Amino acid sequence: HAKALGKNNCQFYSTELNQAMHQHLLLEASLGRALGNREMQLGYQPKVDLRSGKVVGAEALLRWHHPEHGLMGPDRFIPVAEESGLIVPLGEWVIEEACRALRSLAALGAREFVISVNLSARQLRQRHFAQRLTETLARHEVDPRTLELEVTESQLMDQPLEAAAVLTQLKALGVRISIDDFGTGYSSLSHLQKFPVDVIKIDRSFLGGAGADSQDVITRAIIALGHSLKLKVIAEGVETREQLAFLRDHDCDQIQGYYFSPALAEDGLQRMVCDDTRLPD
Ligand code: C2E
Ligand code: MG
Ligand code: MG
Ligand code: MG
Repeated sequence: HAKALGKNNCQFYSTELNQAMHQHLLLEASLGRALGNREMQLGYQPKVDLRSGKVVGAEALLRWHHPEHGLMGPDRFIPVAEESGLIVPLGEWVIEEACRALRSLAALGAREFVISVNLSARQLRQRHFAQRLTETLARHEVDPRTLELEVTESQLMDQPLEAAAVLTQLKALGVRISIDDFGTGYSSLSHLQKFPVDVIKIDRSFLGGAGADSQDVITRAIIALGHSLKLKVIAEGVETREQLAFLRDHDCDQIQGYYFSPALAEDGLQRMVCDDTRLPD
């Protein structure tokens, strides 16, 4: 009896594992076709300056219109893209698209508008990444100061010396560098000073409500740290009035989050910029 049961169990698990592997392979195969089939799209989530209330930039976020699964968020396919290496062509496409969007915004008069893109560790480690970026910026006639590259602490701390060298190269092109999800990774403050960073993004997990809880203490500490290093500080994932009020009170520079706007299609972003839509006081 026990033996039969054990065997069944084993079959059950192996079937499940096979199914998971099968799903993974299917996803990887369809991801490989996604760019060619024009299934990828960028959403642009506005960033607001807290002093002026103006929309000064946007983060480009990847969306996949999967032929069978419908709209898919990056958390579902970025890991597959990283593991398979597909993140390299995908990431290049993201930068191309973002540059094209920057060019259109500049043509509409928004010459200082900044678009940020997320980089994966693998892209950053690519040989000639900086060289390619230079070519892309030039081809689209984009002012390098209007492109921002978002990297996470863990990406940098993995090989801090190499990362510092690449960032220094990128920084020399004139692009901006930001540290995404700040505070969630394993980081070293002494290293932070060595990276040529312009912006830190406070992770949304630190945005509690208003009041004296521990998350608020961390948020205040990150703002103070950023400012003492002469960096701009942006809070991401701002959802409530209370969070906004707290961030204003503590001199945070910018916010991004559903409270103001989710990610928009490019025409929606253009409309917002042309109408000069602002965050109310
Ligand atoms: P991230 O860079 O930290 O992006 C912020 C995420 O928070 C986005 O999720 C955004 O939609 C979400 N968000 C924005 N405001 C709010 C809010 O008020 N509340 C809540 N609950 N969430 C909010 P999304 O678009 O699902 O992206 C998830 C992650 O996927 C990103 O985190 C980024 O790490 C990665 N990602 C997105 N696009 C790309 C890309 O083009 N390349 C790479 N390598 N990674 C990407
Ligand atoms: Mg980001
Ligand atoms: Mg983030
Ligand atoms: Mg994140």
